[in-house]
Amino acid sequence: MTTPARSLNGGNTAERVDSIFGADIFSRSTMRQRLPKEVYRSLLRTIDHGEPLDPAAADVVAASMKDWAIENGASHYTHWFQPLTGLTAEKHDSLAGPDGSGGVVFNFSGSELVQGEPDASSFPSGGLRATFEARGYTAWDATSPAFLMRGENNVTLCIPTAFVSWTGEALDTKIPLLRSVEALSSQALRILRIFGTDEGVSRIITTVGPEQEYFLVDRELYYRRPDLLTCERTLFGAKPPKGQQLEDHYFGTIPPRVLAFMSESERELYRLGVPVKTRHNEVAPGQYEIAPLFEASHIASDHQMLLMETLKRVAPRFGLQALLHEKPFAGVNGSGKHNNWSMSTDTGVNLLDPQDDTHTNMQFLVFLVATIRAVDIHADLLRASIASAANDHRLGANEAPPAIISIFLGKMLSDILEQVERGLPKRTIRGGVLDLGAKTLPMLPRHSGDRNRTSPFAFTGNKFEFRAVGSSASIAWPNTVLNTIVAESLEYMAEQLERAVGSRRSPARLQAGVIAVLKKVIKQHKRVIFDGDNYSEEWHAEARDRGLPNLKDSVEAFGVLRARKNVDLFRKYGVLTKAEHDSRTHIMVEKYIKQLAIEAETMVSIARGQVLPAALRHQQRMAEAVAATQAAGVDCDDTVDALRSFVELVTRVRYATAAVEQASAHPEADPMKHATQISRQLKPAMAELRIAVDTAETLVAADLWPLPTYRDLLFLK
Ligand code: ADP
Ligand code: MG
Repeated sequence: MTTPARSLNGGNTAERVDSIFGADIFSRSTMRQRLPKEVYRSLLRTIDHGEPLDPAAADVVAASMKDWAIENGASHYTHWFQPLTGLTAEKHDSLAGPDGSGGVVFNFSGSELVQGEPDASSFPSGGLRATFEARGYTAWDATSPAFLMRGENNVTLCIPTAFVSWTGEALDTKIPLLRSVEALSSQALRILRIFGTDEGVSRIITTVGPEQEYFLVDRELYYRRPDLLTCERTLFGAKPPKGQQLEDHYFGTIPPRVLAFMSESERELYRLGVPVKTRHNEVAPGQYEIAPLFEASHIASDHQMLLMETLKRVAPRFGLQALLHEKPFAGVNGSGKHNNWSMSTDTGVNLLDPQDDTHTNMQFLVFLVATIRAVDIHADLLRASIASAANDHRLGANEAPPAIISIFLGKMLSDILEQVERGLPKRTIRGGVLDLGAKTLPMLPRHSGDRNRTSPFAFTGNKFEFRAVGSSASIAWPNTVLNTIVAESLEYMAEQLERAVGSRRSPARLQAGVIAVLKKVIKQHKRVIFDGDNYSEEWHAEARDRGLPNLKDSVEAFGVLRARKNVDLFRKYGVLTKAEHDSRTHIMVEKYIKQLAIEAETMVSIARGQVLPAALRHQQRMAEAVAATQAAGVDCDDTVDALRSFVELVTRVRYATAAVEQASAHPEADPMKHATQISRQLKPAMAELRIAVDTAETLVAADLWPLPTYRDLLFLK
């Protein structure tokens, strides 16, 4: 039995966290206690070593899981999955059923655990299925622990599953992610075999620790902003006098209400076994971050979804609304999700750990250089993997990395790669220690290189940090892409190394072979390495000279997804069939179109329904003031001028509203053409309307302005 959660008021903190951590998951320790030894062992072979699931075990596991869930108050179960909406889906079934003689029996069979059959017709399939072709299946993912979702008066057993159509095509984000890990695993194992370090290793996984940025706004204000309600971002809003200029929010004291919210979210996440670790204020006012410890990528991906849902669910209890959108507010930083990524053996060895004498660590250098090669060859695909209407507001806006994908390595590694280009590397630059000059303070060991905040893909000690991922996005797809491109690169490296080293692997021959291959690959792909300021103009020019792609917005990036080389890549590594790949591209484009259509419509309705009426009331007030002043025999030319220019502004708002409406009313039949039309015509029209309305906001009397202002939204804590 897991220890039931106790009150968190009072008592020892370590004990308290320990008692709730994982309390709501069907964890290993729960399984070990509840399952017959044989069944438990067989399940572990699937979970830890990727072996196929033993069907005979399913019935036993189901019965045990059901008992555990019911003891913990569950009445229903659901197959929990991640369809291509980018969200999660659940359809609840009661664990209780009629026993045939007027009573009730609790039942949950192995087949109910292993397979579900939700109607697939209303999920996006990107043309894979017509609406009438409804059948889809969910399949139990035993590697991700089942968990209890607690509501106000309900507990539901959630079983993580994969979602597939009746025709066998993946309809979710999990299946390709799992497939991509397998592809990477088999190629990475080849490298280990070359180095003779594969003993006891049965597979390689990728590890991911995603850092989540988000905003919190007061929920009452949120309800009074139709744009936040329907689009999760403000479509209007004049800049407040104070934004983030003073840099006083980042890492500042966490406001009490926010801290209370964070603590409760963390507690719920602990119960679900999500190892959240870090919390702090982010750069923009009202912006925060939460980060877990890293886990196997597919678990991290499930946990990421739970984390986003938990933030959303808990915030209202504190009168707050969590905004996960990439750009809720213009003029202050947007939100991203730094995706820390590495490769690890199933025995726990981090393959991107440079260790002390890095220049002698040939295996590390191979994995490093393979990743560099992958990112260089597939920079466009990586860029496309994070494309969305929302992320367009953020990338390249001098707060987030530019849309040009490059790699930051830092001084120590850049130096070693330069040495390799010349021959056998001889040294590893060390950081030394920092003497703070005050006897009472400790000497600090210093890293061998500085950090670089501006790079989209930075090496940070023993992992890469892919920083361009959007805050509202599922991390499954970017990691699927990352795993696949690195799998391809590892295969290339393995072939080259096998050829260079041959079958007689003397240490000398191995070293010479490795250096020769590394040298060649570094020469070919070092153009993607850039340690300078990615925000600078010079970098944009230099990147162009280096031939690096710069896909400025999503619409440009979508084109890449359809490229032959990428379709072939996913097919070759068994990650996505052509049909699956086409469907995903189709869905991304459709989502872009729909999101912008919703935003445009919301803008028009706010402009017509709220802004213009308020502006007219203000205009009337001004006109009355002019009339009254003149009637009193006082000259008021200035006010007349102000009235005249205000009337012009109102006209501008009206025209700009009509222009947005017009630009939305010309949909192209072809989705890509439609997306292009949106980016070329609709978005500029929306930008113009925003400028006009934001100007009006600065002129209209505060008591008449119908929307909570940026000052209210960002600073009311
Ligand atoms: P920083 O704040 O310097 O980026 P942290 O050590 O706080 O670095 O790590 C940030 C995130 O990276 C955390 O989620 C952490 O668990 C994750 N991380 C650390 N090591 C790895 C690894 N080997 N693979 C994937 N993620 C990792
Ligand atoms: Mg970080």
